[in-house]
Amino acid sequence: MICSKSEYGRKNLSFRKVADDMLDCIIIGGGPAGLSAALVLGRARRKVILFDDERPRNAVTRESHGFITRDGTTPAEFRQLAHQDIRKYTSVEFRTERVTDTIRHTDFVEVTTSRGAVYHTRKLLLATGLKEVLPDIPGIQDYYGRSLFSCPYCDGWERRDQPLAIISDDEVQARHLVVVLWNWSRQLLVCTNGKYALSLEFKEALRRKNITFNEHPIINLAGHGGQLERIRFSSHEEAILSGGFITPEWFQSSKFGESLGCAKSQSGGIVTDEYGRTSIPHVYAAGDTSLISPSQVIIAAGEGSRAAIGINTDLAHEEF
Ligand SMILES: Cc1cc2nc3c(=O)[nH]c(=O)nc-3n(C[C@H](O)[C@H](O)[C@H](O)COP(=O)(O)OP(=O)(O)OC[C@H]3O[C@@H](n4cnc5c(N)ncnc54)[C@H](O)[C@@H]3O)c2cc1C
Repeated sequence: MICSKSEYGRKNLSFRKVADDMLDCIIIGGGPAGLSAALVLGRARRKVILFDDERPRNAVTRESHGFITRDGTTPAEFRQLAHQDIRKYTSVEFRTERVTDTIRHTDFVEVTTSRGAVYHTRKLLLATGLKEVLPDIPGIQDYYGRSLFSCPYCDGWERRDQPLAIISDDEVQARHLVVVLWNWSRQLLVCTNGKYALSLEFKEALRRKNITFNEHPIINLAGHGGQLERIRFSSHEEAILSGGFITPEWFQSSKFGESLGCAKSQSGGIVTDEYGRTSIPHVYAAGDTSLISPSQVIIAAGEGSRAAIGINTDLAHEEF
């Protein structure tokens, strides 16, 4: 939604007052993308508020891998170190608060939070990330992030040479996981959970590599303390495993991209240029919310940095 200055006046709000309180940037989302943007904008002397409701996508995981110098840190430790870095730059404020609404006006964006507070900002960065829907298997959430994972690059090394399940509702995604995981473990079991029949050609390819498969519905998962030990099928078969990989569905964790009218890619990410600019003026996006795949902490952080440089550059050109 876009309001002109005159419409703003009709809403009995003083435009002058808004301009006085104007922030340079509001960042929604305090994951790697938002935090990295906050650091760059703080160093660029920008007045910023970062809102985060502390529900990160990787909260279930015990260790995060693949970020050089931070391989194996917990997501909480990563955030704490990031806050420590940013605290030096006092023009950046953190608010543990959910943003509930965003409205674009001609020259600024209005942001409302769950406490009913309203803020005005020249630029808005969407870094709200994704949420996951896990396959419909009883008890799966007890194992996700502990012994069942979605990304081999994040957790494949820790599960190398172990018997692993690949659980996917879709043959294309199952095939992709088989091919990629093959170098981490040769002991693979493909499970369709009764959702579809594997193609003859894929079954043949699996047999050639001694990869087993089971096309029956999964009745339950069994194990202790998040460590998967067995999968039980409706056929009364049981597989003994030490973990596995699944293919969850992803969706945007906020609707702001949609409500502001930002163009989306086919995969559902917000389309941006190389500086994080969306199709809507003053609105930027970074991290999983724009680049759905590959989804990695280091990539999200890089995107946050890139968008912050775009934001500062645009502000500087407007000011000069
Ligand atoms: C189980 C699991 C394990 C993973 N392991 C790894 C790994 O080992 N290595 C790796 O590189 N990657 C890993 N990833 C991927 C990684 O977590 C993501 O790529 C990364 O977190 C994306 O960062 P982001 O900043 O875009 O989003 P997020 O980290 O999801 O942060 C988004 C933030 O926005 C906040 N937010 C959302 N909506 C609002 C709102 N309306 N108001 C206020 N705040 C809001 C959320 O609470 C959240 O804190 C893993 C993912 C999962 C699911």
